[in-house]
Amino acid sequence: DLLVVGSANADLVIGVDRRPGAGETVLGSDLAVHPGGKGANQAVAAARLGARTALLARVGDDDYGRLLLDSQAKAGVDTAGVLVGGAPTGVALITVDPSGDNSIVVSQGANARLTPGDVRAAASLLAAARVVSLQLEIPLETVAEVVRAAGAGFGGRPGPRVVLNPSPTAPLPTDVLAACDPLVVNEHEARFLLSDAPVGSSDDPEEWADALLSRGPRSVVVTLGAEGALVADGDRTVLVPSPAVTAVDTTGAGDAFTGALAWRLGVGDDLTTAVRFAVRVGAAAVTRAGAQASFPSAEEVAAP
Ligand code: ADP
Repeated sequence: DLLVVGSANADLVIGVDRRPGAGETVLGSDLAVHPGGKGANQAVAAARLGARTALLARVGDDDYGRLLLDSQAKAGVDTAGVLVGGAPTGVALITVDPSGDNSIVVSQGANARLTPGDVRAAASLLAAARVVSLQLEIPLETVAEVVRAAGAGFGGRPGPRVVLNPSPTAPLPTDVLAACDPLVVNEHEARFLLSDAPVGSSDDPEEWADALLSRGPRSVVVTLGAEGALVADGDRTVLVPSPAVTAVDTTGAGDAFTGALAWRLGVGDDLTTAVRFAVRVGAAAVTRAGAQASFPSAEEVAAP
């Protein structure tokens, strides 16, 4: 039902008392290695909820690549589309200070080598999907090729619906923006995309949602952390509140939200219904530490 096209990274995390300055060495905690990357996270989030999910991504022929393939397979993701080799697996080097603030260096590695040609070679995966979910941790031309192929359809059948979370932020080509149904942004991404207009400095998320919609996507979802998410489909703009929870670690909440949303759209929910489900998944994900480790099962989301 769901195809995620995106990144897979190994997150290498060290706790530090403070960050080193130039030329300085500091001692930190034991190293923790976690599977991550927005694409891999979204696929695991959806599969753990019971979605039939495939991932199109690229990892290196190395231990981190195998860690990522393992974590996908354990969650039940179809990994036949995960390409191996061409560069080392993408890595995020993360230091966390006592206040919980992160500093992150990303080496894109194999993610930067996922090409438009790889997308064309995976046409059967795209043809089989009802929804394709994209982010921007792979080359923009690869994202654009997915959008083109989805728009062209397959043998007279329409291609998959496109969900895009434009993270990390980058200017979006008009045809990519126009295909999004929905464009999923958090506050930071919304302000970035609107930074050329006065509304970018507004403090009213409804104004962002409406302004983003006027840029061409078929629908827009603005996630608002503990507040929930705004849904704008052109007919109306509604706030879907998030359940109140005690937040422990918000890492990966956006990926869990988007993975869940994309899956529910694929099984036929309307956008608002899908967002009502996705906010519960995002809220559950913040109640536990980690990214993929924090993603809930369907039973956990159903529980009151
Ligand atoms: P991102 O992680 O991309 O910055 P948000 O912070 O908007 O995105 O979180 C995405 C979704 O996760 C929200 O729409 C909400 O459903 C859920 N969420 C995030 N933080 C909280 C929180 N503190 N309490 C409840 N739900 C949350």
